[in-house]
Amino acid sequence: MKHTRLISLLIPVLAAGLAGHAADDEQDKLPPHEFTEYWEPVPPVVSAPEGGIPSDAIVLFDGTDLDEWEMVDERARPWIVADGAMTVAPQEKIGEKRINGDIRTKRAFGDCQLHIEFRTPPDDDGKSQGKGNSGVFLMGLYELQVLDSYQNATYVNGQAGSIYKQHPPLVNASRPAGEWQTYDIIFMAPRFDEEGNLIRPGRMTALHNGVLVQHFALIYGPTAWRGLPKYHPHPAKLPLMLQDHGDRVSYRNIWIRELNLPSPEL
Ligand code: MG
Repeated sequence: MKHTRLISLLIPVLAAGLAGHAADDEQDKLPPHEFTEYWEPVPPVVSAPEGGIPSDAIVLFDGTDLDEWEMVDERARPWIVADGAMTVAPQEKIGEKRINGDIRTKRAFGDCQLHIEFRTPPDDDGKSQGKGNSGVFLMGLYELQVLDSYQNATYVNGQAGSIYKQHPPLVNASRPAGEWQTYDIIFMAPRFDEEGNLIRPGRMTALHNGVLVQHFALIYGPTAWRGLPKYHPHPAKLPLMLQDHGDRVSYRNIWIRELNLPSPEL
C-alpha cells in the first residue's frame, strides 16, 4: 500500500524527469490561471462609430458655432465661422500693438484626449515661423505647434508637431498648405501639491495625420518663446486655447475626452 502511494506521487515527477519536461514541472509550481485574472471594476462602455466621435467625448466645435469658446481678450474680434470651420480673424491695432485674438474654451480641462483638425492657408507666402503659424495650447499653457511645415524650414523644435521650444516631432508628417490635417493628442496634466510644488510634470503624446510625433514627451514647463520654461502652480483644470499668430489658420471637428490618467510612477 505504502509503495503504491509513493509511486503514484512520484510518477508525474519521474515522468517529467524522464521525458525531460523541466518546463512542465515549473508550470506545475505556478498558481492557477484565475490568480492573475480580475473582473472588476468593469471599464465603462464607449461607443466608437467608424469615422465618428466617441460617445463620451465633448464636442467643442462641430462646424456651426463658437458656443463653447470665448476670446481671451474681449476686445478682440471673434474667429470667423464659415464652411464648417473656425478661422483666426484679422485683428485691429492699438497704436503699434495688435490686439491678440487667441480663443479658448469656456470649460476647463486637465488630462485629456483631444482630436482637432487644422488647415494652414494656401496663399500664405511667409516663411519659417511666419507661415501658417498657430498652436494648440493644452491648459492654455503647453503648446503643440501648428505651422505650415511642408517644405518650410524653421528651427526643428518649433516646426509643426513640436512641443514648442521643447521637443521636435519624431518625424515631419505635414501635408501641403490648404489641406486639412489632424492632431490626436493624449495629455497628462502636471500635478502640484498643496504647497504648489511640482509632484509630476506634464506629458504629451501626439499623432499628426495619424503618425506618431510625440511619445510620452516630458513637458518642461509652460511654453516660453524666450528663456527656459519653468513650472508655476496652477489649477488642475484650465481652458484649452488656440493661438492667433496673425495667420489665417482654420480649425474644425474638435472633440475632447476628459481623462484621469494614473500616475505612471505608481
Ligand atoms: Mg504657434
